[in-house]
Amino acid sequence: MKKITIAIDGHSSCGKSTMAKDLAREIGYIYIDSGAMYRCCTLFCMREGLINPDGSIQTDELERRMKDIRVSFRLNPETGRPDAYLNGECVEREIRTMEVSSHVSPVAALPFVRAAMTAQQQEMGREGGIVMDGRDIGTAVFPNAELKIFVTASDEIRAQRRYDELVAKGEKPDFNAVLENLRERDRIDSTRAVAPLRQAEDALVLDNSHMTIPEQKQWLLDRFNERRD
Ligand code: C5P
Repeated sequence: MKKITIAIDGHSSCGKSTMAKDLAREIGYIYIDSGAMYRCCTLFCMREGLINPDGSIQTDELERRMKDIRVSFRLNPETGRPDAYLNGECVEREIRTMEVSSHVSPVAALPFVRAAMTAQQQEMGREGGIVMDGRDIGTAVFPNAELKIFVTASDEIRAQRRYDELVAKGEKPDFNAVLENLRERDRIDSTRAVAPLRQAEDALVLDNSHMTIPEQKQWLLDRFNERRD
């Protein structure tokens, strides 16, 4: 049976990755977290001193160094999910911190960063059989994807989920800072000039504010079966 391309976009921390990963595992597709790729670029900037104390980015230097950023994914046998690697080093933990979250959207808004990541994403999905989640997958990366989903949930519920995730990882976040961060990321992601976050016209919308993870999983599996049939 022909393998299709599945694009899952939506606001920050709305559970896209969890749904996308679970679906990919269930149906035997490759899962790619495109946000992790932008997070890797951001971690690279932080480590190389390309983010100034006022938060601005040394864009000329970053553009020159883009060729030094290699992002890849490898399946973690313990979690059954792919981990992100930056130039061969597993950075799955480092890219999920609040510090990276606070710098990622301005980095991801740079046109040359998007061009580089989009090209890599398109190459990864060249043969179909892929579930990719992000902000512009159904609109810019795979505009011809056979199944497009746009996920959203209320700000407070998304912030609570993100807060719980950080606490589970041993961080001590401030709830209001988490809420502010996701609102600010949504604002930057939706208003940038290149490939802004928006719902593709042919996307199915899911508001998962009041759904459990198993319910979301089943909803997505049902949409996949419908589309494939
Ligand atoms: O999905 P996640 O929240 O990890 O993404 C981190 C950030 O990466 C987003 O806030 C957004 O700025 C950027 N991003 C993007 N395009 C994508 C995926 C993520 O601009 N396709």
